[in-house]
Order: sequence, then structure tokens, then C-alpha cells
Amino acid sequence: MPVLVMKFGGTSVATLDRIRRAAKRVGVEVAKGYDVIVIVSAMSGETNKLVGFVEETSPLFDAREYDAVVSSGENVTAGLMALTLQEMDVPARSWQGWQVPVRTSDAHASARIEEIPPENITAKFAEGMKVAVVAGFQGISPEGRITTLGRGGSDTTAVAFAAAFGAERCDIYTDVDGVYTTDPRICEKARKLDRIAFEEMLELASLGAKVLQTRSVELAMRYKVRLRVLSSFEEQSDEAGTLVCDEEDIMESNVVAGVAHSRDEAKMTLVSVADRPGIAAAIFSPLAEAGVNVDMIVQNISEDGRTDMTFSCPTNQVARAEKALAAARDEGVINFAEVLADTGVCKISVVGIGMRSHAGVAAKMFKVLADEGINIQVITTSEIKISVLVERKYMELAVQALHDAFELDKAG
Ligand code: ADP
Ligand code: ASP
Ligand code: MG
Repeated sequence: MPVLVMKFGGTSVATLDRIRRAAKRVGVEVAKGYDVIVIVSAMSGETNKLVGFVEETSPLFDAREYDAVVSSGENVTAGLMALTLQEMDVPARSWQGWQVPVRTSDAHASARIEEIPPENITAKFAEGMKVAVVAGFQGISPEGRITTLGRGGSDTTAVAFAAAFGAERCDIYTDVDGVYTTDPRICEKARKLDRIAFEEMLELASLGAKVLQTRSVELAMRYKVRLRVLSSFEEQSDEAGTLVCDEEDIMESNVVAGVAHSRDEAKMTLVSVADRPGIAAAIFSPLAEAGVNVDMIVQNISEDGRTDMTFSCPTNQVARAEKALAAARDEGVINFAEVLADTGVCKISVVGIGMRSHAGVAAKMFKVLADEGINIQVITTSEIKISVLVERKYMELAVQALHDAFELDKAG
């Protein structure tokens, strides 16, 4: 039998009624003759609640216990989805990550899937089971501890299963009907794309468009998984949603494909560090060891052999960064006057493979922001994206102004 992977995100399983709706969609595919692997997220809000419990109990928590707690939301929905399918006379059972097993690295809270042996589930399909409901977001480390794949990780579970089982398609059911030119929640002119190239989706995801987890797009690109994003709230045709595909399979596109934003960014500045060879290594090695995800970095001009070093990281890693930097100073590895943390910034990015061959996108982006009176604090660029750090109060305005200026409401 051909295999189909269907993933339902948090809002799509938020109530028993929604689980029933999702199960009906699954039933439609089973009736077409597919063996279906359903990946479920926790009910919406559930993972945030569990993360809150952990942070309140232990601010610099042991990530193994964090995983033990936050993985549990998916166990509930997996069991409920299997029960709902059974009530509809569809032969189904649930699987937690460790039962499959979904083998991952031991990088707790952001583990990578290393292997999914298909034998256990395939054997059940051979016995007549029609649907394997798998708890997304979780796996098991080489040591035998429960791991999680980072926020939004159920998308990655879904794509990894599609690759491991050679699925015909991986359908990601969510609360929007596809991938848009920008987050439709903050820009009403956002336009749904019928297709988007893997590389653009990868950049948009990594720059904050949380509709797909970055790692899921990487895996889909590497293993050539047919990846589709669509709504769980609407009746669906085979053409619905957005297909994430190769660049060659897209006929027309704009120079800029989309605008992404990332709300929870912090800007940290080490004031007055020695400007000498090795200073960057001395600062960023302890941060890396402490698990701080440093993104943008700027070293300012030097006066009298001293300079300021600025970097950005997620707001919830500021305490970890401050602790690591203070420890490095106490050990004499670095010397600085003070650390300034600004947790009121956000990152705005424009993305498009057309930028490879079109000059002037950066200049236009900076002019649009200047015209709105928005000050740019840090800039980074790559071949197909430009990102800026700006004050968070300008986030919506910046996204909307850029969406207008690059005319993303019109098809290319
Ligand atoms: P799920 O719970 O189904 O995994 P998520 O909340 O993780 O859903 O992702 C869907 C959300 O992603 C949408 O509600 C939307 O607000 C947001 N989003 C951000 N950028 C985009 C974009 N470019 N296209 C579509 N949705 C986007
Ligand atoms: N429930 C997890 C989260 O909220 C995983 C997911 O939904 O993809 O991050
Ligand atoms: Mg998600």
C-alpha cells in the first residue's frame, strides 16, 4: 500500500471536536487506499504551559527533565486520535517516539532525528492496521532518555517519517491554508503562494516564519519529500495549500518571495573588550558551550585598543549568556566593562532567490525602513536574504511597509 504522512498541528487538535474533524480527513485518505502515518502535536497552548512549569520550577533547568515534561502533551493527543479513529472503525493505534523508536541525538530540547527503523510500524500495517498515530516532537537518545526536537518539532517528525517510509506525500495540516508571502496574522495583504522553493522556505523558516520548522524543510530538501502545507479547517482538494518544491518547478516568482519576522530577539553588547586577535573566540566559545544560539554579530570600531562587541540571541537565552560571560570574566578569559542586554528588539528579513541576480534589494529595504522612521540597529545579509534588527514596537509596521514596497500582494 502507498503510505501518506498527515501532520496535525496544535490548533488542529485543540479540542475533541477538532480531533474528530482531523480523524475524518484521515478516514478519507484511508478510503483512497493509503496506509496513513498521522503525526500529532500537543493541543494548542499545552506545550507553552509545560515549558512555563519547567521554567518556574528551575530557571536554568536540566534539559533532560525539560524534555521529560514538555514531550508529554503529544502523548495525550496521540492516544486520543487513535481512540477517535477506532470509534470510526478505522484500525489505528498510537505510538510514542520511543516505541517506534525515533532515535535522536542526545542534544536535549533540540535533538536531531538520526534514524527511524520502519519495521515495527510496517509489521502492524501488514497485519491490517490502517493508521499509525505517532506523537510528534519526541524521540529517544542513545542513553535511552526522552528527547524533544525543538519548538515546532512535529513538522520535522512528519517529514522524517515521510522519508523513512518513502511516503507519497507529507501533508502538514495547520491553521492557515498554506505558506504566505508573510505571516497573514500581521499583514492582511499577505498572499498565499501555490508553490515555494525549498531554499526560500528554508530561509523564511529559519528567520522566524514558524509555519514549518526549519529542520523539516532541510530534511524534505535532502530526501526529496513532497511537502505540502494546508488548512485542517477547510474541505480539501488534491491541489489545495502550498507545495514546497524545487526551484525548477516554479514558473514565475518575485525577486523577493517573502518577509519574515522574529519577535523574541535580544541584542547584547559587551562594552570595552580588548581589540586583539582571539577576542571573538574568547567571547563566543563560552557562549556556544552554554548553548546560547548567537545569530548576528557586530564588532564596533576600536579606540585605544578597546572595542564594543554586539550580538543577538533569543530573549530566553539572555540569562544563560550573562552567566557564561560572567564566568568567563571571573576565569580571566575575557575582560569587559559591562554587558548591556536589550530585550526589546526584533528581526525583520526579506527573502528571495531572485536576489542572486538582482542588485538593489538591500538599498530599497533600508530606504523603506528609513521612510517609516525606523532605525536599523544591526544588519546581516546572505545570498538570498537581508535581515535587520529593529525596535520591537516597529515590527508590524516594518513587515507591512516592506510587503507593500516589494509588491508581494501581486504574483510575479
Ligand atoms: P501548528 O500548530 O499547526 O504547527 P504554527 O502556529 O506552528 O501551527 O504555524 C502556523 C502559523 O505560522 C500561522 O498561524 C501563521 O501565523 C504563522 N506564519 C508565520 N509566517 C507565515 C507564513 N509566511 N505563511 C503562513 N503562516 C505563517
Ligand atoms: N508541541 C510542540 C510545540 O509546540 C511541537 C509542535 O507543535 O510542533 O513546539
Ligand atoms: Mg508548528
